[in-house]
Amino acid sequence: MKAGEKQAAAKGSGKDAAGMGFSALGFRRRLGMWYRANARALPWRGVNDPYATWLSEIMLQQTRVATVIDRYQEFLRRFPTIHDLAVANEEDVLALWSGLGYYRRARTLLRGAQFVEREMEGKLPRSLAKLRTLPGVGEYTAAAIASIAFGESVAVLDGNVERVLLRVLGLPEQKGAKARARLVEVAQRLVPAGRRSATEGNAPGNHNQAMMELGALICVPRQPLCPECPVMEMCRTQGEHATGTRARMQSRTVSYLLALRKRGVATEVLLERRAAEASQMAGMLELPGLPPAAVQGREPVLRLRHAITNTNYYVQVFSEGVLSDGGPAGAALLEKITAMKTDLTWVATSKLGQQPLTGLARKALQRLNLMALPRVTIELQGD
Ligand code: SF4
Repeated sequence: MKAGEKQAAAKGSGKDAAGMGFSALGFRRRLGMWYRANARALPWRGVNDPYATWLSEIMLQQTRVATVIDRYQEFLRRFPTIHDLAVANEEDVLALWSGLGYYRRARTLLRGAQFVEREMEGKLPRSLAKLRTLPGVGEYTAAAIASIAFGESVAVLDGNVERVLLRVLGLPEQKGAKARARLVEVAQRLVPAGRRSATEGNAPGNHNQAMMELGALICVPRQPLCPECPVMEMCRTQGEHATGTRARMQSRTVSYLLALRKRGVATEVLLERRAAEASQMAGMLELPGLPPAAVQGREPVLRLRHAITNTNYYVQVFSEGVLSDGGPAGAALLEKITAMKTDLTWVATSKLGQQPLTGLARKALQRLNLMALPRVTIELQGD
């Protein structure tokens, strides 16, 4: 029997071929029953559209589910098919991504749609190996699309699944290729074989989603809810596993200018475009930054905290009131900014919703009641 046949046979029988200490079949059954009873009703679940699965998987990377829900639905309304996205311009795509952060994802999604449209007759490929050839589609995303959208028997190994497996196997957090390979092997042993079937539905896709859901709802990073866990009997840790020291949060204070002016009945706000070659959020619009010396002794009109990966930004926004048509005369901060910066632009507040704003700019403008769009919760931001 060849290696691949042995693996498939072990999967089918549920034998503990990977030395896990429990039967894969028993694990799958318990997990599956729990998932059917407890899965959250999320808008991307149960949809039969590989493009929608792709979009949701990209949006969910490093962004909270609650934040993604609105954005996902709005994005699909505006770009309902791969073709609609492929012919969109980047500014429109970034504008719809505003608030989700990590804007590189939006750009690579757009490039991916253009690639599929151009090279694959507008249809996403069905296998993990071919999905990996798309721009911005890594191992995780390819496995998620291949299993959830097409029923391929491949394991998804994100942070949630990794935590569940480490705890079930009684292992501490480990770095390195060898430790990763062990988790990949076990994750793969647990995935049901075969594509969609009439009796089981999409067994591999459901299993992967169940693993991620278990990590998100029960086997959470701190104080896991073990008594509610469907695989508690098989778990060697039954609690938090040993982790390395986490990076400490840094703090930074940053200041921005809020400059408003009247143009007829319209109110306009001054924004700065980030450089095209900037390493983060290139080409996006934000409030003009102010140097610390410029704001000494002044009181901000808004203070907020904004977290990006390991940094807490304490943001202060300073204003000099609404300017008349006469320009910056008498507005010291605005004079300073216009002398220092070149890529400034006035945007009508009624058009802010269609602009590629950075997450922080969007958050500040919403708090200042300058945007018509409903507020969204933004936890993570960056590129
Ligand atoms: S028993 Fe506890 S630690 Fe183990 S998998 Fe379940 S929730 Fe996680």
